[in-house]
Amino acid sequence: MKYLITGGAGFIGSHLIGKIITKADKVIVLDNLLTGSKKNIEKFIKLDNFEFKPHDIQHHYDISEKMDYVIHLASCASPLAYTKFPINTLKSGSIGTINALGIARKFNSKFLLSSTSEIYGDPKISPQSEDYWGNVNPTGPRSMYDESKRFAEAATQAYVSEYDLNANIIRIFNTYGENMQLNDGRVVTNFIVQALNNDNITIYGDGLQTRSFSYIEDTVNGLLLALNYPKSEIFNIGNDNEMSIKDLATLILELTKSDSKIIYKKLPVDDPLQRKPDLTKSKKILGYQPKIDIVTGLSKTIQWIKNNSNKIV
Ligand code: UDP
Repeated sequence: MKYLITGGAGFIGSHLIGKIITKADKVIVLDNLLTGSKKNIEKFIKLDNFEFKPHDIQHHYDISEKMDYVIHLASCASPLAYTKFPINTLKSGSIGTINALGIARKFNSKFLLSSTSEIYGDPKISPQSEDYWGNVNPTGPRSMYDESKRFAEAATQAYVSEYDLNANIIRIFNTYGENMQLNDGRVVTNFIVQALNNDNITIYGDGLQTRSFSYIEDTVNGLLLALNYPKSEIFNIGNDNEMSIKDLATLILELTKSDSKIIYKKLPVDDPLQRKPDLTKSKKILGYQPKIDIVTGLSKTIQWIKNNSNKIV
């Protein structure tokens, strides 16, 4: 099987490649390395069945070799990154998705879109199931990400209805683990780096806002289940173990045995107050089941960050 992965040098892409590379006939990664890193794919570059092409999918990519799978991961994904690169974020979700869909259409490949829980915005219901339309500010500070992914979903659905493409959309909820960028402002990495350095832990707002954190291995397993699902569907992928940001801070302080103090900073505008996936559909249809609990996942992540301590910023 041959795979084309946009954004394959990113956090999720690098783990996905690790899962498929030994059995794949070929894996081609397109990445502009804006937020991805060559380091994430270093160990694959020497392999005969792996190709890395520095390319931004917002520009047409000419390919004549038939791909069995097209997986569109390319996007800025952290609030810090998409705020820094708003136009690129909009283009990778819009033009980039159309270009990736065009490649899949050409070869009748299976298509997978990595969408996000952000399409639910600041949800008015909890947990969020796939049929919830969301509560999104179309021009707010997170809009470049939320709306580009909403467009990406609409585009994918259009290729399903007009061209009968087999395409699945996964809405990925907050995922953490090895290979995350340590300086992109995400809460898990921020708190761990702060705790290991005995710096203040910065909680934004009162810390009562919630997220549901999924360890990377569970998220990638869900991605692969969706990729191989023969019909075209939309699935939430993540872990439904919801917790407050304050409880996350306390847990990370415990696990790192840190002396850091918690300080409170302003909550960013439009920061969602709650987020919890309803996994009923993905469990029932895909047999998806997240397995790694937060203590195990955080402990592995802390260890990885310690081992890469030269990266601590
Ligand atoms: N957050 C925080 N301190 C930080 C970084 C983030 O309290 O140093 C909060 C942030 O305001 C949000 C939650 O943690 O409520 C998750 O933030 P993240 O950027 O990781 O993901 P997202 O908001 O996209 O879910």
